[in-house]
Amino acid sequence: MAAAASAVTMARSDEWNREMNGIMNYSGRRVVVMGLGHFGGGIAVTRWLVEQGAQVTITDSKSAADLAESLSRLDGLPVRQRLGGHDPADLDGCELLVVSPAVPKDKSEFVREAVRRGIPLSSEMNLFIERCPAKRVVGITGSAGKSTTTAMIGSILTTASEAGALPRVWLGGNIGHSLLGDLQTMSSEDLVVLELSSFQLEDLGALRWSPPIAVITNIQPNHLDRHGTLEAYADAKMNLVRYQSADGVVFVHEGEDEVARRVTAVGAGARLRRVTFPQEFASHLRLPGRHNRDNAAAAIAVARALGVADELIKRGIEAFTGLPHRLEFVAERDGVRYYNDSKSTTPESTRIALEAFDEPVVMLVGGYDKKIPLDGISRQLAARAKLTICYGQTGPAFHREITAAGGRAERADSFEDAVAKARAAAVPGDVVVLSPACASYDMFSNYEERGALFRQYVQAG
Ligand code: ADP
Repeated sequence: MAAAASAVTMARSDEWNREMNGIMNYSGRRVVVMGLGHFGGGIAVTRWLVEQGAQVTITDSKSAADLAESLSRLDGLPVRQRLGGHDPADLDGCELLVVSPAVPKDKSEFVREAVRRGIPLSSEMNLFIERCPAKRVVGITGSAGKSTTTAMIGSILTTASEAGALPRVWLGGNIGHSLLGDLQTMSSEDLVVLELSSFQLEDLGALRWSPPIAVITNIQPNHLDRHGTLEAYADAKMNLVRYQSADGVVFVHEGEDEVARRVTAVGAGARLRRVTFPQEFASHLRLPGRHNRDNAAAAIAVARALGVADELIKRGIEAFTGLPHRLEFVAERDGVRYYNDSKSTTPESTRIALEAFDEPVVMLVGGYDKKIPLDGISRQLAARAKLTICYGQTGPAFHREITAAGGRAERADSFEDAVAKARAAAVPGDVVVLSPACASYDMFSNYEERGALFRQYVQAG
């Protein structure tokens, strides 16, 4: 169902691309951008289209008040706005509909109407790929580890570039930066590293394009509300390798048999390279955990495929201390190391954090109550953590479950109190990890705010 629907919604793209590729600007053309969002893609594509001379209308189901921050970044641009809902009248005379990857196209009446009218669809990423001059593009996807792997590859290649061993390196896509604005200065020799989500890959299928160098970290059930089934989700991800030419290559971690099977099933088996973490790099990796060794294994393989010498790869890996809020190293205080894993909003990612350390761990857990079972992770905390500090809405439940499982837990009255209790309990050689296993909405506006506050309390201490 889902696959058929997306085929319909993107059906005219090929035809449109042939027509539009000759016209490298949109001067005077009417374009509707659907979905401005908060993460920058909608803003970047709007800016770029305006620079091309297009007459742009932005439409979003959210209100102007909800989108205030994004809208402020469009200040002064001649853009029409239709916010708080979509009006089919905006499709009158529209020659291109640019849809945000966050919009479920097959469920949107506005998108259906555009398709009925024969208006071609595109996306920020598709517009970029159609025009990207760089021959060497690295694409990274997976259910977990995309951003970390992308940023690690970025760190290695940038180190090599600064040493004069590679041309310029551009990092973008789902990691939070649109490269449309960089097209003007990009050359065919440059390197482009793109994090691609399953939604972006679903859209890219219309271009029948895959990056010559690909990494798939893993495939776990994810976003099934959007993709319908695991098959549809995995199938979208396989667009990363489906259209590679014979000299393409796809790196998959040795342990990921299911990914390897899927790569082979779409005919990319001959290009598959299974990777493991080379031991000689062990002392250079600053990020904790087996999963980060898996991510590094792929990053090292990509760099080697691009001809980067091991010495430079080691330097690039050393320079990378992790992405903010993902087991990010914060500071060492009185012999205790503090890590911020505020992005962990599920028991599964807290389990990964717990397993990342050999040292005694003081954990901080708790937050918004999504009504999901916490007994499994509580048993793991009881077994492996030296002490768990429980705060927020789910704090009492965590405390009950962990103590019932024979573990040590303490309750905190506030987030600040939680950090203070962790500090008081930790001794030199311990690690303190904020890995809440819950969303942040009970006390914060988002996980970034929670992580930033943790950092602040740690650094003040
Ligand atoms: P993504 O960009 O795919 O969401 P991130 O790199 O931001 O992934 O990592 C998010 C979380 O996923 C990490 O904090 C960690 O808990 C987990 N993770 C990272 N890499 C892996 C991996 N290779 N396998 C399994 N889990 C991982």
